[in-house]
Amino acid sequence: TIGADFDRAVARFGDREALVECETGRRWTYRELGAEVDALAAGLLTSGVRVGDRVGIWAPNRAEWVLVQYATAKIGAIMVNVNPAYRVHELEYVLNQSGVRTLVAAREFKTSDYAGMVEQVRPKCSGLEQVVLLGSPEWTDLLATTERPELPVLSADDPINVQYTSGTTGFPKGATLSHHNILNNGYFVGELVGYTEEDRICIPVPFYHCFGMVMGNLAATSHGACMVIPAQGFAPAATLRAVAEERCTSLYGVPTMFIAELAEPDFDTYDLSSLRTGIMAGSPCPVEVMKQVIDRMGMREVSICYGMTETSPVSTQTRVDDSLDRRVSTVGRVGPHLEVKIVDPVDGRTVPRGTPGELCTRGYSVMLGYWEQPDKTAEAIDAARWMHTGDLAVMDDDDYVNITGRIKDMVIRGGENVYPREIEEFLYTHPDVLDAQVIGVPDPRYGEELMAWIRLRPGVAELTAEALREFCVGKLAHYKIPRYVHVVDEFPMTVTGKVRKIQMREEAVGILG
Ligand code: ATP
Ligand code: MG
Repeated sequence: TIGADFDRAVARFGDREALVECETGRRWTYRELGAEVDALAAGLLTSGVRVGDRVGIWAPNRAEWVLVQYATAKIGAIMVNVNPAYRVHELEYVLNQSGVRTLVAAREFKTSDYAGMVEQVRPKCSGLEQVVLLGSPEWTDLLATTERPELPVLSADDPINVQYTSGTTGFPKGATLSHHNILNNGYFVGELVGYTEEDRICIPVPFYHCFGMVMGNLAATSHGACMVIPAQGFAPAATLRAVAEERCTSLYGVPTMFIAELAEPDFDTYDLSSLRTGIMAGSPCPVEVMKQVIDRMGMREVSICYGMTETSPVSTQTRVDDSLDRRVSTVGRVGPHLEVKIVDPVDGRTVPRGTPGELCTRGYSVMLGYWEQPDKTAEAIDAARWMHTGDLAVMDDDDYVNITGRIKDMVIRGGENVYPREIEEFLYTHPDVLDAQVIGVPDPRYGEELMAWIRLRPGVAELTAEALREFCVGKLAHYKIPRYVHVVDEFPMTVTGKVRKIQMREEAVGILG
């Protein structure tokens, strides 16, 4: 179980640093962290939390998040990760859907009054019995508990976590995950980038998401590495500063975070020489960005991971000894003890190598199911326990996988299947383009037409549709050249840093009139 693995780390790496919170300068060794986790576990037990109870955590990245993660795991409570960007309506939905009994929440984050919002939803959440605000007397009391009640006996297959998906394509779904699911995943992700107790991992990605809490925290603690929290929310300068000051060896991010860091005006003033590795994941990782991460950030052994919340999350990963070309242009090969196959989405048969199809995966990583949504679970996981990801992928003869897009994002223009990902990769090569996203918009003649949303590089005033189309002519097939170009400052995003194409498609209808 996660608790047992964590205790082993505490015993083995006691005096080594486990956690650093850069905004406050607070630091914990493994021994200190272990003691606080034990105190909180005892406090929660004494306050009445039982095995299987849902304990919600609603806070940005801060040390207390980590305490709650490990304390709930030790007592067998099911931690429910609540998205820090939620507002009243979404908070109420998640608390009720997962049946949270105890909620641990920050008082506030940036301009959001969490305490006020919790009070607002409280009357509407009948199952919510206990609210503990971080920093309140109740929180202090939990940590001050001197009793050490006996910990319950747990099984590695017990549910330990409900994690909601990013909500990129619609309403978030709660994935129920076991110790076995996420502990293995965190451990193997760490193995494949070679973590040891010498590593210091800078984690600017949200803990509420599996990228932070599994690939970050669990990968760290299962290898005795140190978790470094640069700031409560993502800030490119704070992240670079944390890497420099804490001598981090590894840095995480979704592509948009790395793009922002590389574009920081004083990027060159940060000493990033300690960086060896890191992980880029979560959405398509542009080759150009990968190259810059290696060349300008010195992340020689950077790895790309592909996965989803429902699979704990990682299914495929590049290895540090893969060829450079494969490390920047594929999502690697299937992880240890997992299976991946690419099937025809219509008849379900495995397609030949090199042919696009839906990626399915099976093994320890596949969630127990969606929390109290058996119909949705049955749609996603088939009778043979294959998880159908909804992602389109191609596998080559050497088992390397390329993600070509989401089934939901595929554009059918005049009968041709168009994968926006391919066009986005090409648009990145335009010197004025900082970031590019391509969507399909309804069109009376072709069914769908392509629209490119572009963020321009600093200092570039404009990029006309004609100029961009001109750039594509002769290099992209005519039906892949975007008809419309829309220049924006920012794309609509999820908190996990993913572009919400569903929202762009809605907005595009208004833009085109
Ligand atoms: P929702 O399911 O709520 O619409 P979501 O799928 O974005 O949101 P997550 O579970 O956070 O929620 O993300 C998983 C998805 O992210 C995958 O299904 C895939 O589409 C995308 N993804 C993750 N890693 C990569 C990667 N390396 N390359 C391309 N796409 C990726
Ligand atoms: Mg999804």
